Amino acid sequence: MSQDISTRLIHHAYVPPAGYQAVPPGVFKGSTVLFPNAATVRERAKAFGHRDGYSYGLYGTPTTYTLEQRLCTLEGGRHCLLCPSGQAAIALVNLGLLSSGDEVLLPTNVYGPSLRHARATLSQMGITHQCYDPLDVSDLQARLSVRTKLVWVEAPGSITMEFPDLRSLVASAKSAGAVVALDNTWGAGIAFAPFEMGVDISVHALTKYPSGGADVLMGSIITNDDKLHEKLRTAYLDLGMGVGANDVELVLRGLASIKARYDLHDATARELAAWLAEQHGIRRVLHPALESCPGHEHWASHCGAAAGLFSVLVDESHSPAQLDAFCDGLRLFGIGLSWGGPMSLVMPYDMGSIRSGKQSYAGHLLRFSIGLESAEDLREDLARALSGAFAA
Ligand SMILES: *Cc1c(COP(=O)(O)O)cnc(C)c1O
Repeated sequence: MSQDISTRLIHHAYVPPAGYQAVPPGVFKGSTVLFPNAATVRERAKAFGHRDGYSYGLYGTPTTYTLEQRLCTLEGGRHCLLCPSGQAAIALVNLGLLSSGDEVLLPTNVYGPSLRHARATLSQMGITHQCYDPLDVSDLQARLSVRTKLVWVEAPGSITMEFPDLRSLVASAKSAGAVVALDNTWGAGIAFAPFEMGVDISVHALTKYPSGGADVLMGSIITNDDKLHEKLRTAYLDLGMGVGANDVELVLRGLASIKARYDLHDATARELAAWLAEQHGIRRVLHPALESCPGHEHWASHCGAAAGLFSVLVDESHSPAQLDAFCDGLRLFGIGLSWGGPMSLVMPYDMGSIRSGKQSYAGHLLRFSIGLESAEDLREDLARALSGAFAA
């Protein structure tokens, strides 16, 4: 289908209850699902947890199936599992696919809690990990072995925003027989089509752009591969993963406007990132659409858009106290984790503790998440806080 993704999400196929054709899909709740008779129980028991019917609230409702279908439309996949957070989705992929003796590879700029999970829970289970340089395909190739069962890719990486040569990383990992999982939270199904990059699994923190409201935590795991989905679904059922109907309702509501919001976050972020690059005290801006960002050429060859995220490196000559004064001096930027909501946010990161790769990032790092406020208001706020904190 050639229609725009907004059109397809808003006019998505949905069968309403007879005689009630409202625009939003219904919100259905229930732990128990009553069977019409005992024979149906016996028939259904063979397929508990299968998505061709209903057997128990945890195994799916009309509301969760609707969100799963729309997320498959967004990302171009066939199967979807909804998890209680993005991090839960990442952990489920690892726990569902890896066993003792296996190895998983992560990029050095991987989402922080994902690395923590590998270091703690996975290593306790006898599953080893290595980190590869996402900007050096040969570094990934050198680390692949018969024990490598899973390779994570992220585009761009968290916080430092390096954009990898995604197609080449995926091709290398797959030629070594590994399954490739993408953390697609930044791309959100809009910046690029994840399955056209060759990945096997796309994980998405719905907490961010699909929700758009900064009011829900949820994650998804999408695949095109029936066998892989079956394996993940088994772990999903075993671990008792599920999501609540009220949260699903919020994500369904947000999803209709995801493209419009993403484009606005993108436009405002690019404008502010380019402006910040010219300001006194800002050493470097890390936004994949700017040439100053490592891997910019890969962003340009893979993507048609960018999210509302970027980081800046502030000159080391400024003291940590000046950096804090800058953050505290901002009136329109909240100081807080996460992104994808209406309010702009800023977060200081200690580079020494988060990066070990070859890239050098001297200076203090601030990560900005641009919300839906006017670009002009945000620029004025930044200008005022910059001159207050960094005045020569
Ligand atoms: C936020 C985020 C996650 C985790 O999502 P939660 O719902 O907060 O657990 C995973 N990956 C990336 C890249 C994220 O930004």
